[in-house]
Amino acid sequence: SIQGKTVVITGSNSGIGLGIAREMAKAGAHIVLNSFSDTDEDHQLAKDMAEEFDTKVRYIQADMSNGVACRALIEKAGACDVLINNAGIQHVAPMPEFPSAKWDAIIAINLSSAFHTTAAALPLMREAGWGRIINIASAHGLRASPYKSAYVAAKHGIVGLTKVTALETAKEPITANAICPGYVLTPLVEEQIPDTMKEYDMSREEVIENVLLKRQPSKEFATVEQLGGTALYLASDAAAQVTGTTLSVDGGWTAM
Ligand code: NAD
Repeated sequence: SIQGKTVVITGSNSGIGLGIAREMAKAGAHIVLNSFSDTDEDHQLAKDMAEEFDTKVRYIQADMSNGVACRALIEKAGACDVLINNAGIQHVAPMPEFPSAKWDAIIAINLSSAFHTTAAALPLMREAGWGRIINIASAHGLRASPYKSAYVAAKHGIVGLTKVTALETAKEPITANAICPGYVLTPLVEEQIPDTMKEYDMSREEVIENVLLKRQPSKEFATVEQLGGTALYLASDAAAQVTGTTLSVDGGWTAM
């Protein structure tokens, strides 16, 4: 069981990472929250979660765009039984206008960070004799959309990295899988609505219905609680032989 195990979740002071942290804390895991900021609110978030679920919760600042900082996060955590690579950003623009700096930042945060944290966490998992790596990819790890070149490239990349991680740990009690969510109404999605409105000359409602949920046949957003439940499943004993694969939580998007 996950009880008493240390779960490190990158990018977890908001959205999906926070939702997964809450479900894991509820199940009795010890949680390491992370983001690049280091505010009183960040540390208060950890305190409140510890109190709410009567478990250990720490907040460790580390910028996932920096490989050295990624490795330092795992070292500071001291233990990492479950690693959830979740930190991610988005930028939406046609390729000729796509800023090079945004490309670099998205590849660093959404893809390279998972390489660095995994490299640092595997020795700890091997020492503990058990481990779970859960990469938060996306439906965009399996399908493409226009204007999301860096994001789609990074998410396809992390699906590939997940497979390699699974093969390198295949004979050990360690698994590596990727969760591929469809649209979840988090700040990351909220922020791309204005740009998409401009890009397609649409209202907010039209963007939600005709762009965001266009390819999500359920016509509903997935929720952070559902993603927490999916991560709990992948961390469970029932999933011990599930490795190197993707699990879609996308209302049927990739069925099409
Ligand atoms: P979000 O913006 O709410 O959360 C992103 C998290 O990453 C935040 O905690 C943020 O502080 C953190 N972060 C950003 N840059 C960072 C950095 N340099 N260092 C450390 N942390 C950093 O967005 P979200 O929707 O919850 O996204 C979480 C993950 O889920 C991302 O990888 C995203 O690509 C993926 N995802 C989201 C959706 C969706 O519809 N929301 C769908 C598929 C996949």
